Amino acid sequence: QVPLKPGRSLMDWIRLTKSGKDLTGLKGRLIEVTEDELSKHNKKEDCWICIRGFVYNVTPYMEYHPGGEDELMKAAGTDGTDLFDQVHRWVNYESMLKECLVGRMAAKPIAAPKGEVFLRMKYCLLYFIPKMHNYIVILVVFLKILTPDLVFKSSNYDWFQTDSLVTIVIYTKQKDMNAELVIVDCQDKRLRGEIIMDDRSYLVEVGLDHAVSEDVAVNIAEKVGKVEIILSKKDNIHWKMLGQPWEGHNTFIKCTDRGLFYRKCKLVSKTEVTHDTKLFCLMLPKGTHLRVPTGQHVYLKQIIAGTEVVKPYTPVLPFLPLDFQKPPLHDGVHIYLMIKIYSRGLFTQALDHLQIGDYIFVSNPEGNFKKSQVQTSEDLLLLAGGTGFTPMVKLLNFALTEVSCLRTVKLIFFNKTEDDILWRNQLEQLALKDERFEVQFILSQPTKDWVGKQGKISSSLLSEFVKRSRRDSKVLICICGPAPFTEQGVQYLKDLGYSQEEIHAFTA
Ligand code: FAD
Ligand code: NAP
Repeated sequence: QVPLKPGRSLMDWIRLTKSGKDLTGLKGRLIEVTEDELSKHNKKEDCWICIRGFVYNVTPYMEYHPGGEDELMKAAGTDGTDLFDQVHRWVNYESMLKECLVGRMAAKPIAAPKGEVFLRMKYCLLYFIPKMHNYIVILVVFLKILTPDLVFKSSNYDWFQTDSLVTIVIYTKQKDMNAELVIVDCQDKRLRGEIIMDDRSYLVEVGLDHAVSEDVAVNIAEKVGKVEIILSKKDNIHWKMLGQPWEGHNTFIKCTDRGLFYRKCKLVSKTEVTHDTKLFCLMLPKGTHLRVPTGQHVYLKQIIAGTEVVKPYTPVLPFLPLDFQKPPLHDGVHIYLMIKIYSRGLFTQALDHLQIGDYIFVSNPEGNFKKSQVQTSEDLLLLAGGTGFTPMVKLLNFALTEVSCLRTVKLIFFNKTEDDILWRNQLEQLALKDERFEVQFILSQPTKDWVGKQGKISSSLLSEFVKRSRRDSKVLICICGPAPFTEQGVQYLKDLGYSQEEIHAFTA
């Protein structure tokens, strides 16, 4: 992120798009754009970019781009889809840039003249037909190796019914399948079941033949990787088919190629954590099965001034693992988010204005943190800045309740003032309760009364607090906070001799 000039915030951009100004220079006309034409618009004062086959004139957006003009210019006059997907595929560019739409990319002309193509096909057939059998065998073997998608696609789900139930069975052939890897949404006769396998996603997505009740059960046979989605029929009639496939039905593709799916969640409570930070409790719809894995975030989507705005947030628990309280609500129904409300924040202001009972869209989880990183560590060090504390909540809970090999767990928590410290009381209680856990608060703008540590993230502070419990102990250091805080922290840690594998930085 780069600092934007005054008057160049997202809200200012939304206002500009609603002003009726001609942002493409084409007076509302949509055109077909050839590659040649696209490549001519490659300057800051005249910049077109193609995303997923649609071309946008992003010249007026330059100064509003949170990542800066130079980042946007990397895709100037070209197809920027891959770059966009790498950096922020979650940003709803269709909505944000709809007034900048120039048109579609024109279909590419076929390179070889028709006659030549036919000649080549004839030659191929004459050569291949006698040897067909051998080639088919070789082809199948190659397909199996090169395109697991196709192989997986051929037979991987099944369904059966009783008088009252419909069960969809998915054979993932994956060991260690678990509830966090299965996301099911069943609303208004639409069933969507997504299974995550490493960096790939398998989807069952159908418009069901008949109505089902809102209750959906998910059974997972972890060892054999069998997943059952059990629906209750509304009427006890025999179904002739499961339903009509939706576009993504029965596909097995990279997670990053799958569009984000959102469901509407109800705001059920909002409680103060500090003067500017609140704990929002959202309730998933009844037909949804979704568990956000430790270290992952979701995207929230709201329509603000007629534009869809999306921001990432990291779910927490309702409280830290203190045994004198009720067990944390791992009920699979509620999602807790600890969110700082910025006085001039576009999204958080709108969020703060939601009333109990209002709805907000919540996406599927994302993120590249792997729990196994913790399971093999002896020392876990958590460096958090402000709301960068949020991924540490589930991480702390997981480490202290499920990882027996951990000897020390230390949180070094950077804030501006004492009033900004999130869940200070609970953290201090946890340190008293569990001798493996220690917390250190460091303030960058303390009052005179503060007797604790003071300063900003620095090499000397980190060398004082980040230590292995033994000379050769296996350590994992997780860091999260404002982007420069995280970037500097990672650099200081590397300078102190920690390897890339020992550091996990939470970023977008
Ligand atoms: P904007 O309209 O974008 O900004 C308005 C003003 O607010 C800015 O001028 C600035 O003064 C201030 N501001 C905005 N964003 C930031 C920022 N990121 N750092 C410092 N100042 C800022 N936030 C949470 O509160 N809880 C979370 O659990 C959480 N999880 C996140 C997970 C990920 C992966 C990422 C990348 C970010 C996360 N954030 C979280 C930050 C969140 O996504 C938004 O950036 C934040 O809520 C501000 O949005 P806004 O639209 O209100 O502010
Ligand atoms: P904040 O209160 O502004 O800052 C927290 C601490 O970090 C303060 O001590 C602050 O010191 C310090 N800090 C801020 N900017 C710094 C910089 N450039 N260099 C070094 N130290 C710096 O923080 P916040 O408003 O809560 O923001 C939290 C951030 O975490 C947001 O940017 C959010 O996007 C991010 N976040 C990321 C994730 C994720 O998974 N990626 C999850 C949650 C939150 P100063 O006195 O110097 O300001």
